[in-house]
Amino acid sequence: MIDGLEAFFETRHREVAEEVTHFAVGPMGAYATAHDDDEARAQTPEAIRLMGRSGWLQPQDSRTLCLFREAVAAVSPLADAVFAIQGLATVPLRLSGYDGPWLERASLGLAVGGFAMTEPEAGSDVANIQTIARADGDGWRLNGQKWLISNAGIADYYVVFARFEGSQGSRGIGAFLVEREEVHFAGPQVLSAPHPLGQLEFRDSQAVLLEREGFKLGMRTLDTMRVSVAAAACGMAGRALQEALEHARSRRQFGQALSEFQLIQAKLAQMALALETSRLLTYRAAWQRDQGRERNTREVAMAKAHATEQAQFVIDSAMQILGGRGMLADSPVEHLYRAVRALRIYEGTTEVQYLIIAKDLLR
Ligand SMILES: Cc1cc2nc3c(=O)[nH]c(=O)nc-3n(C[C@H](O)[C@H](O)[C@H](O)COP(=O)(O)OP(=O)(O)OC[C@H]3O[C@@H](n4cnc5c(N)ncnc54)[C@H](O)[C@@H]3O)c2cc1C
Repeated sequence: MIDGLEAFFETRHREVAEEVTHFAVGPMGAYATAHDDDEARAQTPEAIRLMGRSGWLQPQDSRTLCLFREAVAAVSPLADAVFAIQGLATVPLRLSGYDGPWLERASLGLAVGGFAMTEPEAGSDVANIQTIARADGDGWRLNGQKWLISNAGIADYYVVFARFEGSQGSRGIGAFLVEREEVHFAGPQVLSAPHPLGQLEFRDSQAVLLEREGFKLGMRTLDTMRVSVAAAACGMAGRALQEALEHARSRRQFGQALSEFQLIQAKLAQMALALETSRLLTYRAAWQRDQGRERNTREVAMAKAHATEQAQFVIDSAMQILGGRGMLADSPVEHLYRAVRALRIYEGTTEVQYLIIAKDLLR
């Protein structure tokens, strides 16, 4: 995984790369395919327990996070998503200095977390959050709804973003912790690739304030995790390229292997180029974060936008090379085809990444 990218790594990362590959194809391999949402919901806590037991839910440097997601996403996009959501649900606890029981439990894989930011009227426009937080004695009460929330209905706790009563704009948004008993699961939202997604309602739900400047905390959390979305995209694209190469070598038409046709060779070359540029951008951004660079939002946005868009292209090309076989429901490429789509949307759409890049250029 590190060959050709040595400039961004330290010696110890080579061992990390071996460990993550071993973990991904070994224990994590069992979670390769969930056929529907019920299976995905059942597998999620098990996958989290496994990752927790193996120590992968403890804080990692950015490059390790990326190596892990790249390796796991190549084997199981669902397990990768599960890992990412646990990150989104624990990073804000760490950043806010939370000292309750959930952080340790979630980091050991003994509790499932959720990150509830998106609402029907507040997607990319996070500052438009309408869920209201009202002070109640020493604590808080929340009212409102969230949707498109991963782990909805199966999380033990949620980090919830809500607006202080009477406030406006991003400065009026706080971050709260809400335990599962206080949250009404309003039903699943079924995706094309199995994923435990759903809607939540808060009805005078008891909440603990994590951070008054919740918008900033949310953005810092996304900043920490976003580069790893690019890595997951690389993992999926890498797997698709590998499947396409194997097929091109073995499949014969018109008396020769597909790999001997120049049109197929050109496709393979374009796929490899797309993957390599994605990995360069991804590990550059991860390396910068590990150097403690104050601002690398632009580089992270570039990695996320490029790697996720290119992964879509690579996987689509792989399906073209596999022909009809690639579309069969048990084909890994068909699964990747459905799974990769969400990466261009969650944790900031590609358009939002372009806005971030342009804002930085024009600063
Ligand atoms: C699989 C999956 C899992 C998710 N999990 C979670 C989760 O756990 N927690 C959570 O809080 N959310 C989650 N989300 C929600 C996700 O973060 C949002 O879908 C995303 O932020 C986009 O918001 P939206 O869907 O409302 O789209 P919108 O914001 O309505 O955007 C629609 C389109 O308009 C474009 N657009 C919007 N604003 C602009 C602009 N200013 N300029 C140009 N184009 C623009 C967008 O790029 C997009 O193409 C998940 C989504 C998916 C698909």
